[in-house]
Amino acid sequence: MSNECVFCKIINKQIPSKIEFESETCLAFHDINPRAKIHVLVIPKKHIPTVNDLTDDDSDNMGALIMAARSVAKKLNMDSYRLLISVGKQAGQEVFHIHMHVMSPD
Ligand code: AMP
Repeated sequence: MSNECVFCKIINKQIPSKIEFESETCLAFHDINPRAKIHVLVIPKKHIPTVNDLTDDDSDNMGALIMAARSVAKKLNMDSYRLLISVGKQAGQEVFHIHMHVMSPD
């Protein structure tokens, strides 16, 4: 947990969000500035800034993340969708808490 992190604040319900999925390890909520008809972000509850900060201990957590993305897609009736994780500023990462974008193709 980071006091400065907007996604940690969403996890702690200090900032409102439209939640689609929650488990012990992951949270999925709608992107505030959607770039697709459906645009959801899936995050680990553990504060990890980027994929480059992962350790071997995080593999179950990251497995849970993609399974959460799959659950969200199923819940929202998406058969086809994009999954995207940006790593680092140059790749367009703006929020430094790992997140996977789940986006409909339209
Ligand atoms: P990225 O550019 O990959 O770091 O994506 C960060 C995403 O977080 C952007 O698509 C933002 O629109 C989204 N975002 C930032 N703040 C919030 C928020 N409070 N609630 C929902 N989505 C947010």
